[in-house]
Amino acid sequence: MSLLTFDTLIKNGFVVDGAGNPWFKADIGVSKGRIAKISRAGITKGEKTIDAQGLVVAPGFIDIHTHSDLTLLINPKAESKILQGVTTEVVGNCGSSAAPVDRKTLNHLKEEWGPEAKAVKWNWSSMGDYLNRLENQGVSMNVASFVGHGTVRTAVIGVENRKPTTKELKAMKTLVAESMKEGAFGLSSGLVYLPGCFAETEELIELCKVVAEYGGIYTSHTRGERETIVQALKEAIEIGEKAHVPVQVSHNCPKYGAQGKFNEQSKIYEAARARGMDVTFDNDAHTDFNPNLSNVLPQWAQTGGSQKLVSRLKNPEIRQQIRKEILEDKFPGPGYSGLVKHGRWDRIFLFKCKKNKNLIGKSIREIAKSRCADPFDVYFDLIIEEKGEASALFNYIEENDIRTVLKHPLMMICSDGEATASYGVLGKINGYSPCSYGEYPYILERYVREEKVLSLHEAIRKMSSFPAQKLGLKDRGLLKEGMCADITIFDFNAVKDRATNRFPYSFPLSNFPHKYPEGIRYVLVNGEIVVENGKHKGILSGRILRHNVGKATEN
Ligand SMILES: [Zn+2]
Repeated sequence: MSLLTFDTLIKNGFVVDGAGNPWFKADIGVSKGRIAKISRAGITKGEKTIDAQGLVVAPGFIDIHTHSDLTLLINPKAESKILQGVTTEVVGNCGSSAAPVDRKTLNHLKEEWGPEAKAVKWNWSSMGDYLNRLENQGVSMNVASFVGHGTVRTAVIGVENRKPTTKELKAMKTLVAESMKEGAFGLSSGLVYLPGCFAETEELIELCKVVAEYGGIYTSHTRGERETIVQALKEAIEIGEKAHVPVQVSHNCPKYGAQGKFNEQSKIYEAARARGMDVTFDNDAHTDFNPNLSNVLPQWAQTGGSQKLVSRLKNPEIRQQIRKEILEDKFPGPGYSGLVKHGRWDRIFLFKCKKNKNLIGKSIREIAKSRCADPFDVYFDLIIEEKGEASALFNYIEENDIRTVLKHPLMMICSDGEATASYGVLGKINGYSPCSYGEYPYILERYVREEKVLSLHEAIRKMSSFPAQKLGLKDRGLLKEGMCADITIFDFNAVKDRATNRFPYSFPLSNFPHKYPEGIRYVLVNGEIVVENGKHKGILSGRILRHNVGKATEN
């Protein structure tokens, strides 16, 4: 029996430590933001006691792949993520980080970020400034950032489709080095997006060599997630091998057009590991996404804003060219564009638009039928009619692939979502975002409890210590004495995602709610109880995590 008095005492829980071990029963004493004591013999004294009888006590989840860079500035309470039990949010993914910013190209960067960019005051320039701004403002969860290759490229050469000159490449390397010095955990790339798609492999190798000097990692939304998924994976690994930097492949589940290809990917992963290459990957478990309709078009057709896009689609020759390029896969399209290429118009649903509100929820196939028109033309016409401002729901991933990927030993769990909330500015911007509201509860509810694809302790490991190890976070991701007290306490039998509508969808859109999950009872961030009885208390106890700052390059 310990005689110490702890700040917070968590009693009688089933402790799942995050290392992949099955639960054990113990009390946990938290003091000064750290896990001070874990005892099977029981602890009695705490300023505050949480009765975790019947509940699972796990490390706070570490979400290695998110896009919350700007939303955390808009709403530091981060409800949609922290109410899922996520205590560390890793931003700067898919080539897009909030910094570094160059005033001359800021408008391009804002365009890449979309509507959120309008809701923040861009008063930072370097990675260090951005992290300081977050820190000064305060935030409910811990935040770590990668520096985005697309952001760096934008700062130096805008969105031009060309190789950087020697001087420009040097400037890009300097920005990566500065960002690493100021706390970035590595470099991310998004090679199907503007402007990342314009970069050749060599450019990424050169930038990753800088990351290697600082002990960071390279994380990539690869150059293809459909027919070319294997080739694209090989490129990501090649970059890591040539630059001597560990690789994390982002959301690497095969998308429509590559269904069932994961076995091939798995062989590539295993062969790379056998050669001594540190490569791992992450994935989320949602099968759909709601991008702007124009995002499936070749990048050249999207450049220059919606007016230019619309006039291109009105020109029959250009329109024909765009269609041809989509069908022939002439450009690195995003995963969901596979539905367009393969004519799966039955799996694309009009989601947000202004003019054709009566068609919301209808598939492109249905709309084409009612207009007695070719679905491809209807798709382009909708972009014209909506002046480039319409989005659709693409159901583009097979659940069976998700199950296969979840079980892979090199896979860790991420959301690919963002911290948001159902009210305020973010509530207005909100699209369909089940992964932002329910990713972790969804996996626990469906793939652990219902389908038993993963054991509970294996799922928790993939949500905590595994991403911590990849990032080089030494004091988070495990329930162990001395670790930071990031702790999630939940009722495994009651945990429930309320934001996901399983396919086939039931419209109307009121069935796509921005609702927080059930069953996540308490969330502690750095020892402070941020969520109590499922309610956010408004506490901003997150820390800004800076890789390697003030340390030698030891990671
Ligand atoms: Zn991505």
